[in-house]
Amino acid sequence: MTESPKECEKTVTPDVKLDVQNPSQPNFDEDRLREYCGVFGVFDLDDAAAITALGLHALQHRGQEAAGIVSYDNGRFHGERRLGLVGDHFSKESAIKRLPGSAAVGHVRYATTGETAIRNVQPLFAELNSGGFAVAHNGNLTNAQTLRRELIKEGAIFQSTSDTEVILHLVARSRKPQFLDRFIEALRSIEGAYSLVALTNKKLIGARDPLGIRPLVIGELNGKFILASETCALDMIGARFVRDVMNGEIVIISEKGLESINPFPPQPMRPCIFEYIYFARPDSLVHGRPVYQIRKAMGAELARERRIFADVVVPVPDSGVPAALGYSQESGIPFELGIIRNHYVGRTFIQPSQSVREVGVRMKHSANRCVVEGKRVVLIDDSIVRGTTSVKIVQMMRDAGAKEVHFLISSPPITHPDYYGIDTPQKEKLLAATHSLEEMRTYIGSDSLAFLSVDGIYRSMGYEKRDALRPQFTDHCFTGDYPTALTDLSGENRAQLSLLAEAS
Ligand code: AMP
Repeated sequence: MTESPKECEKTVTPDVKLDVQNPSQPNFDEDRLREYCGVFGVFDLDDAAAITALGLHALQHRGQEAAGIVSYDNGRFHGERRLGLVGDHFSKESAIKRLPGSAAVGHVRYATTGETAIRNVQPLFAELNSGGFAVAHNGNLTNAQTLRRELIKEGAIFQSTSDTEVILHLVARSRKPQFLDRFIEALRSIEGAYSLVALTNKKLIGARDPLGIRPLVIGELNGKFILASETCALDMIGARFVRDVMNGEIVIISEKGLESINPFPPQPMRPCIFEYIYFARPDSLVHGRPVYQIRKAMGAELARERRIFADVVVPVPDSGVPAALGYSQESGIPFELGIIRNHYVGRTFIQPSQSVREVGVRMKHSANRCVVEGKRVVLIDDSIVRGTTSVKIVQMMRDAGAKEVHFLISSPPITHPDYYGIDTPQKEKLLAATHSLEEMRTYIGSDSLAFLSVDGIYRSMGYEKRDALRPQFTDHCFTGDYPTALTDLSGENRAQLSLLAEAS
């Protein structure tokens, strides 16, 4: 892989000194717990890196901290991995020129840690005895620490703190003669959520975990296949959506076309419901369902569950907009933009510490006084995590003269942490995990507070209710029903993780 270390270092923020003994210092391992990401891959298309950069730009909402592309050309892999937004680096002709070839994989990443190291920016790359192998991962493995410790005991040397690197080591150590069998063997050892795109000198490979927790889709452009986290990335490059990669499916794209294998015992799919609530871009289709329509349906369902007598429905932009529209249409209360969002700041969570996050909320939203003054306001957001946004926004409505503020949330209370790559924090920091509904209302300062019910979410998705025996989605954030083993959270591992949690 040709990669100039000098170039990479240029973009690294000043190095944070690492002190594992002192929990007040950012910890080397801290960021492995919290990642959410977007992935993209093309094969046999001219200007593969430029197409990948465009695809990643459309997936920017899935990770704004770092971006990387690895391309393959004529016997050589080329890689560029940078901190910052896709456009900051990959819009430059010079960067794309350093990524020649007709095959490429790319990644956008977000991790909420103090330390953001270039070594964790994906795609990760390794020279295996079968040749070069680049991999980009969306999701989070729930046994990565356990595997990592075992591998280290056996002599493996890790270059990053990313759980994805475990996959590289497992592939490298497999004794199977064929590359694909080695890859499958590696996947059989890992637990948790993964949507992967991988590149070898002959193939682009996509793989999705046996439950299909994180999304991955197949597109087609000029007769060639593309892989992406979301369909909005296909739209960006004018590609046609072909289908989702299914749970437990591996797709192999090569000169022969697209081949599909299913190496895992079949089981029902359980995609993460939070993609519909918050993560995916509203113009994406997730499992064929338009995210925008689903969010509107959640708002309409909320209006049926909780009717408020009010003058205006105001969304918390941008994430509350479709649900507020749905609420307004169902209730007949006019929809108004009572909060204006400044688009030149990132998502609230991008700020790593609570104090900075709080300032971030004020930087991001302003009240539109002419809409709310003297009015009874139904304020709608998609979710409450720590409550930081809610407190500020409700106060902002009151400061702008709102007579009443009714805060409605188009998803159920988040009572359980996520371990599959969507960055909800430890239980103690989740407002709904530690407060009753009335305590939350008092804390937030609204006149009333209500959440969409768990069955209400399922109704918005076209089901009668949540199937308690075989839930249609992964909804652990609301129910505590984790769909996979949480190996890293058991015994010795739990002790280590809680140490890391203290450091964050
Ligand atoms: P909080 O202020 O901590 O309660 O966060 C709630 C806000 O963050 C809502 O406006 C959500 O749209 C947004 N949000 C919800 N989940 C996440 C997440 N996992 N990462 C980033 N933002 C989120």
